[in-house]
Amino acid sequence: MKSGISFTRRTATPFALAAVVLLVGNLLWLIPVARNIRNQVSLLQLEIADRVATDIRNYFSAAVRDLELSADGIIFGSEKREVILAKLLKYNKGIDAVFLIDGTGTEILRQDRLRKSRALAGTDYAASPLFVQTIAGTPRFGDIFISEQLEPHAVLAVPVKATDGPMVLMAEMNLRDLIPLVADVSIEDGLVYVLDRRGVQVLHPELSEILRSVNYSGRVIARRVLGQGVIVNGLSGDDSYVNKDGVKVFAVGRPVGIGNLGVFVEQPRSGALGTERQMAIVAVLIFILGIGVVSVILRAQGRLRSMLYELDEIGKILVRRDLELTRANTQLMELDAVKSEFVSIAAHQLRTPLTGIKWSLNALRTNEVEPLAPGQAQIVEGAYEGTNRMVGLIGDLLNVARMEEKRFVFEFRVAPLQPVLDEAIARYRDIGTKKRLTVLAEIADPLPMVSYDSEKLKMAIDNILSNAVNYTPAGGTITLRASRDKDHVAISVQDTGIGIPKAQQHRVFSKFFRAGNAQLRNTSGTGLGLYLSEQIIARHGGAMKFLSEEGKGSIFTIQLPVAGAGEKK
Ligand code: ADP
Repeated sequence: MKSGISFTRRTATPFALAAVVLLVGNLLWLIPVARNIRNQVSLLQLEIADRVATDIRNYFSAAVRDLELSADGIIFGSEKREVILAKLLKYNKGIDAVFLIDGTGTEILRQDRLRKSRALAGTDYAASPLFVQTIAGTPRFGDIFISEQLEPHAVLAVPVKATDGPMVLMAEMNLRDLIPLVADVSIEDGLVYVLDRRGVQVLHPELSEILRSVNYSGRVIARRVLGQGVIVNGLSGDDSYVNKDGVKVFAVGRPVGIGNLGVFVEQPRSGALGTERQMAIVAVLIFILGIGVVSVILRAQGRLRSMLYELDEIGKILVRRDLELTRANTQLMELDAVKSEFVSIAAHQLRTPLTGIKWSLNALRTNEVEPLAPGQAQIVEGAYEGTNRMVGLIGDLLNVARMEEKRFVFEFRVAPLQPVLDEAIARYRDIGTKKRLTVLAEIADPLPMVSYDSEKLKMAIDNILSNAVNYTPAGGTITLRASRDKDHVAISVQDTGIGIPKAQQHRVFSKFFRAGNAQLRNTSGTGLGLYLSEQIIARHGGAMKFLSEEGKGSIFTIQLPVAGAGEKK
């Protein structure tokens, strides 16, 4: 519970941090990409607007040129004026009507393609701004209007400096031929349209739309292009608008460069900036994925942290235990020392009186004092056996104490082993015979010299021989062997006795160890003999080993280094 709370608290901050990093990281690539997409769309649309503007300009420039040529014809009187006007209509299909106005603003000549007549319309142009401006000297472009035939028309006017006074040549241009220019647009769902200076739509791919003469001056983009005469690239927020179909569009616009017209290109934002939306979706997906990955990592981290916390706790407990154990161990060692001291003192104190008792009992049982009655002799014999065992036990205890207190003095001499082995065999042949055991000896001759303390080595050999005798039932065989094995002399005692149970074999050289089967058979053992023997052999630079099988027998081996073998190496 506690770790759960700390997990939430600890992971909240990194989580928020990761979210912010992911967000910022995503924006870092998304913003430039989006900007790039917009730039591309803007460039493409501006290119189209530019092309349409050029086409429209060219169209009107050609017409102005034709009008000026006709004006020149009128000035120089090359042909009759009626013929000049008729030719103009003939060669320029965009002109529906052409008329000549004198300096007073009175129409004096007219050619009308549709009516096929020369009848004057009788209009008075004196107050017309178009007339007034043109007569002043430069060609002019009049407002676009819808003709009676329901077609968009524009009036072009050029001055004519005729010898009989200044005049104005005007032409009514049918803008029908301009419709294909705005209709053939190569962008998906795109629309190109033209507004005049007032914001009225004068060109559109569909004639019906033109005839509606809708005014779009309300659009910011229209005001900027028509009013300020600037190119608008669509990248500013208020460049876009909702078109008549209710669709939000991305739009650009530019002046046509003639007659205060403006050309506009629009495209639904969904189509134009579709890629931008896809990129945004990718960014959102990356964000979600990133958040997912981060939360997985954080959760794993949280689990790891709580595991580490637990490990830390376990570590602390272990350290505490270790401390307790060390303390307990020290106490045990102190107790052990006290115990050893006690045993040593007790054994010392007991040995002298016990030895005295032993000798007294011996004197009694060997009838040195006076012959004993048969009942008395049995009691004395029993007492002597018991005392003898106690003397042996006390001897072992004293030796162990001496060994542990490092008071066991060794006197090493390089000598042949033969005498020690011979004496042991002689002794155990007797004991063996009494216990109905066969004692054999296989001693290699010669045996190499060994550096040993004769008394201590005798104790060790004696111990394994006496164990063999004690733990081998009558009828068994005990074999003492000695031979060289590389740099060692191996002295082994093999018996056909009760063996040592496998499960207890690892404790054979421990102090006071007695196997279960041995205790049943022989109650007098101390469990100190092998412990002492191993210590003795170790002090000789050797080792003790054994092999044993319960019910079959054992073989105990003492390995002693050959004298000088180590130095020869
Ligand atoms: P002790 O013989 O006085 O009991 P040791 O230290 O000499 O003590 O031996 C320890 C134990 O090892 C014995 O009690 C016995 O269980 C086992 N042991 C040693 N030698 C033999 C053997 N030759 N056969 C069977 N068991 C043995």
